Amino acid sequence: LEITMGILVVGSVALDSVKTPFGSRDDVLGGAATYFSIAASYFTDVSIVGVVGEDFPEKHVTLLQKLGIDLSGMERQKGNTFRWKGEYSFDMNTRTTLDTQLNVFAEFSPKLLPAHRSIDYLFLANIDPDLQRSVLEQMKRPRLVGCDTMNYWIENKRASLLKTLAMIDLLVINDAETRELAGEPNLIKAARRIISWGPKILVIKRGEYGALMFNSDSIFVIPAFPLEEVLDPTGAGDSFAGGLMGYLAAVGATDDSAIRKAIVVGTVMASFNVMDFGPKVLADLTYPEIEDRYRQFRKIAFFEDITGKVDRV
Ligand code: AMP
Repeated sequence: LEITMGILVVGSVALDSVKTPFGSRDDVLGGAATYFSIAASYFTDVSIVGVVGEDFPEKHVTLLQKLGIDLSGMERQKGNTFRWKGEYSFDMNTRTTLDTQLNVFAEFSPKLLPAHRSIDYLFLANIDPDLQRSVLEQMKRPRLVGCDTMNYWIENKRASLLKTLAMIDLLVINDAETRELAGEPNLIKAARRIISWGPKILVIKRGEYGALMFNSDSIFVIPAFPLEEVLDPTGAGDSFAGGLMGYLAAVGATDDSAIRKAIVVGTVMASFNVMDFGPKVLADLTYPEIEDRYRQFRKIAFFEDITGKVDRV
């Protein structure tokens, strides 16, 4: 990986309380921007735009800084950090939000630093679509804009969300969000409809079932990396997006082949993240470990032509 362009990510930096069938943790480092930036930090320069409160532990700041993540756009404000509390079902496929305390995040209205406006890659993590657009409008001319959202915005701010979608390149959402956004139960039809609204690429996250990618002329499908021990799926979606965008920024390409590899990288990063609570495992990787799992995954997902002949797709 030689060409390196930075990423700016705007989104939540949180303290999470999580319960899964394998245990629970209180007030661990979380947030969409956090998971995204840790995953992306292995591939490119990352700057976070976000806000934390006076209670945000210094050790979390240190951890992010050690990974080289630029925190000059992370404000510290009076009050408490955004808090999210959630619980997972026995099979970990469904998550119930038990509590959301916006705290300092409620008044969040980012004004980008001059140095951040000319960054090439932008990721708008799950926040109010009005805020997503306000950040996007402050950027000079990003090469690629990625975006996430959630059911709350689909249901309560649909018109604004559609305006945001018209301005982005890459939408990364889960299957339920895809169906709800498109008003269409079939994922393929739903994807076509969403693509017609603006995003050139739609990546659908399907938890333990993997991911699907759609653009105007191709589809790509991959499973999740098979793991025997999954302790906490929190942040899987954001570390997936971080790996995906991080890789795209690192290679400076968006052709079909680059996107396929980027989705595999995203899957690999998410698989590391779910091995323990919080971003511990994700934050403590080496690049060779990432490459190694990527290659293992390539073997797992490989299949030959039906004739057995060496083939090219
Ligand atoms: P993921 O598991 O990738 O979907 O993302 C989980 C992360 O999203 C957690 O670390 C939470 O702190 C964060 N989060 C949960 N709810 C919200 C929300 N309403 N807005 C922004 N971030 C949120």
